[in-house]
Amino acid sequence: MTATHRPAPVWIIASLLTGPALIVTVTLVRGPAHPGILDSAGGMPVILGLLLVSVALLRVRRVDFTRIAALTAALATSLVMIALDVTLRASPSPASLQNTAVAVPVAIPAMVLAIAVLIEACDAALVALAQQEIRGWRNLHLVLPAILVTPALIEVLQGLILPAPPDPTQFMAVVPLETIVLGAVIWWLITGLVAERMATRNFANALDCAPIVMIDSSGTIAHWSRGCEDLYGWPAAHAVGKNKYALLQSRTLEGDPPPLTRSNDQREGIELIERHRDGHALRLLEVARSAGSASRLSILSMSDITARAAAERALGDSEARLLLAAQAHSIGVFEWNVESNAIHWVANTETLLGIPAGSVRDYASWAADVFPEDRVIIEKRMAAAVWAKADRFSFRYRMRRADGEVRTIEGSSRCFYDGTGQLTRAIGVNIDVTDRVANEIQLAAREAQLRSVLETVPDAMIVIDETGIILTFSPAAERLFGYAARQVVGANVSMLMPDDHRVRHDGYLLHYLRTGTKRVIDRTRFLTARRIDGREVPIELRVGEARYAGVRVFTGFVRDISERIETEERLGSLRSELTHVGRLNAMGELAAGLAHEINQPLTAISNYLAAARRGLAQADRNEDALRDQIIAAGDQSLRAGEIIRRMRDFASRHETETRIEPVEAAIRAASALVLVGYERLDVTICYELAPDADFMFADRIQVQQVLVNLLRNSLDALYTVAKERRRIRIASRVVDAEWIEIAVSDTGPGIAAAILAQLYMPFTSTKGKAGMGIGLSICRRIVEAHGGSLQAENLASGGAEFRFTVPRVVKESGGTQR
Ligand code: ADP
Repeated sequence: MTATHRPAPVWIIASLLTGPALIVTVTLVRGPAHPGILDSAGGMPVILGLLLVSVALLRVRRVDFTRIAALTAALATSLVMIALDVTLRASPSPASLQNTAVAVPVAIPAMVLAIAVLIEACDAALVALAQQEIRGWRNLHLVLPAILVTPALIEVLQGLILPAPPDPTQFMAVVPLETIVLGAVIWWLITGLVAERMATRNFANALDCAPIVMIDSSGTIAHWSRGCEDLYGWPAAHAVGKNKYALLQSRTLEGDPPPLTRSNDQREGIELIERHRDGHALRLLEVARSAGSASRLSILSMSDITARAAAERALGDSEARLLLAAQAHSIGVFEWNVESNAIHWVANTETLLGIPAGSVRDYASWAADVFPEDRVIIEKRMAAAVWAKADRFSFRYRMRRADGEVRTIEGSSRCFYDGTGQLTRAIGVNIDVTDRVANEIQLAAREAQLRSVLETVPDAMIVIDETGIILTFSPAAERLFGYAARQVVGANVSMLMPDDHRVRHDGYLLHYLRTGTKRVIDRTRFLTARRIDGREVPIELRVGEARYAGVRVFTGFVRDISERIETEERLGSLRSELTHVGRLNAMGELAAGLAHEINQPLTAISNYLAAARRGLAQADRNEDALRDQIIAAGDQSLRAGEIIRRMRDFASRHETETRIEPVEAAIRAASALVLVGYERLDVTICYELAPDADFMFADRIQVQQVLVNLLRNSLDALYTVAKERRRIRIASRVVDAEWIEIAVSDTGPGIAAAILAQLYMPFTSTKGKAGMGIGLSICRRIVEAHGGSLQAENLASGGAEFRFTVPRVVKESGGTQR
C-alpha cells in the first residue's frame, strides 16, 4: 500500500451507487416475476465473472484499477442480493425450484466473496477518508446505509408499479425487512472490519516509520520501510529488489562485507558502516530476526548510531588525551563519589602513581596507605572547604606504597554539593612530587651551603644584571665596601668604582653585550674600588657570566689586595736587599782576587811612572821612551779603572732593569769578575757560545750575578782536584724560539749527594764558615723571576753542571723580535 493509493470520496460513492442503479434498470426491464439473467444458470457466472474482474483489478495494485474493482464488486454485491431475493420469493414452479436449487448455494458464497472484495477495494479509500477528511467519513456514514437499503426500496417500488405479487403482505413487509436487516448486517460488517483494518493500518504505518528492511537469504530487499527511506535516502521503489549490502556499500567495522548468516555473538546485532544515497557514511547497528520459520525472509531493524559512535569516539579521544596528559606528568585523576564512597580512577591513572590498579577503591582503602598525620590535615582542610562551600581545595600527603617506598603526593580537588550543601562528589588530580620535593630539599640545602660559603669566604661577591644593577651583595662585600646590602641592591654597580671608571662602566657593559668582546669576564683584573668613605682600595676582580632562561647575570668576586700589595712591596725590597747582600757576599769572596788584580796595574803604573821620573832626570832622555812609559801607565790605570767600574756595577744597589742585552758580553763580564786572581789555580776556561744565542731579554747585572755564583762554586769545587784536571766549561745554546740556555759545568767532585735534594734551600752549604749557602737560592729566584728555570746535575764524567734559561730575543735587521 503506497501513499498514492487514495481514491477521492466522490468516486467511491459513485462506485457504490452504480451497482444499485444497474439493478434498478435490469429489474424494471425484466420485472420481478421474471428474474431474467439471475434466474437462469448464467446468472451466477455473471456475478462470479464480475468478482473475478474485481479481484484481478485489485491484484494490479493501481489506484484507478482499484476504483474499477470497487465498482465491479459493488455491482456484483447488488446483483447477488437481488438474485437471492428473487430466488427466495419465486413461485414454487418446477422451473423456479430448479432455479432456486441452483442459485442459493452459489449465491451465498458469491455474496460473501462480493462483500469481501468490496471491503478490500474500498479499504484504502475509507482509511484515507477516516484519517484525513472527517467530513467525508461522516457523509459515508449516511451514504453507506442508503446504498445498502436501496435494493429494499427497489423491491417496494416493484411491488407498487408492477402487477400485485402473490402475497402482498410478504411482499410489502417481509422482503424489505429482510433486505434492511441484511443490509444492516453488511454495513455493520463493513464498518467493523474497516475500523479494524484502520487500526491495523495505523499500527503498520507507525511501524513503517522505523528503519526496517526485509531481505531474503541472498540479501535482496523485499520490504523497505519509510524509516529506511528517511535513513538512507533511497525510495522504496528503488530499493526493493536490490541487494541491501550492495546498495548501501555495507562494511563491518573491520572493513569486511557483512555476513548473511549471524553467529551467536552477533545475535544482538552487528555494527555496520553503510552509505547514504548522498554518499555520506552512516554507522548502524543491524539486528536481524527471522520473519518466521515458514518464511525465508529476515527482518532487519536498523539503528542509526552515527551520533552515538561519534560521541563515544569523542569521549574515547578525550579520555585518551587526558591519559596522555596524565602520563606525561604522572598525574592520577580520581573521582570520589561521597554518597557511595566509591573512588574511581579515570583511565586507570592510579597506576601512574605506582598504586596497583583497583587497590584504592574507596576512602578507607586510600586512607590506609596515607601517613595518619597527613590524613588528619587533609580531613581538616576538606571540612573547612565544605564549611565554606569552597569550589576546590588542595592537599599534600605522604603515602607508603605496597613496595614500602614512601612517596609524596600533591593534588587538588573540585567539590560538588547537593541542594542541602552536602558534599556529594569530588573530582581531582594526584601528582607524585616525591622527586620534586627531594630536588627542592637538595636545592635548599645547596643554597644554604652556598650562602654559608659566601658568607665566610673572604672574597666579596656582587651579582649584577645586564644593565649593571646590583642584585646580590654578600656580607664580605658589605665588609669591604662599608655599605649594607639594602643600600646598594637595586643601585648601579658603578657606585662602587672610582670616578674615572664609574662614567665608563655602563659603556663597557653595553659594548660587551653588543660585540661579545670580553675585557673583564673570565680574567683577573687589578683595579681600584671606592668604599663608602670615599677611600680607594686596590682590588683583584674576577667576573663570571651566567645565562639562564634568557636572563644574563654577571658575578664579580672582589678581593681587597691592599695588604697583599704592601706585603709584596715589603718582600720585594727584602728580596732585592738579599740579592744585593748576595752580590756583596760574592764580592767579598772575590775581594782577594780583585785586590790582586787591581794591584797589578797599580804596580805597573807606579813602575812606569818611576821609570818615567828616572828618564826625566837624565840629560839625554829618550822622549819616545818617556811617552811610551806614560801611555803604558795611562793604559794600566784604565785597566784598573775598568776593574773597579765592573766591581762597582756589580756591587751597587740598582733597580731591576729588564732589556735586550748581549749574552756573550754578560758571560764574559761575569767570568772576568770571577776569574781575576784565579790564574794561579791553573783552571782551563772553555767557552762554547752559540752564535745564534746572541741576545736575551733580561737584567744584565742579575744574570751576571747568577753566573758569578755558579763560576765561583765551580772554582771552589776545583780546589779539591788535581791541577791538570781543573776545567770549567761555559756554554750557551738556543733551546727554541723563546729561550736561550746557559750552562756552567766543571770537572770538580760533583754536588754532594747529601745536599742534592735541598740544593736551593737557603743556608745549605758544605763550605762551613766559608759559605753562607744562599748563592744558589738567589740564583734560582733570579732565573725564575725572568720566567726561566735553573737545573743542576752531576755529570757522568764527574763534576757538576748547572743550566739556566733566559728569554731569547731575535734581533732582525731594522728591529727586534721577542
Ligand atoms: P755556598 O756556596 O755559600 O755554600 P751555594 O748556595 O752557592 O752556597 O752552594 C750551596 C752548596 O752547593 C755548596 O756548599 C756546595 O756544597 C754545593 N755546590 C754548589 N756548586 C757546586 C759545584 N759546582 N760542585 C760541587 N758542589 C757544589
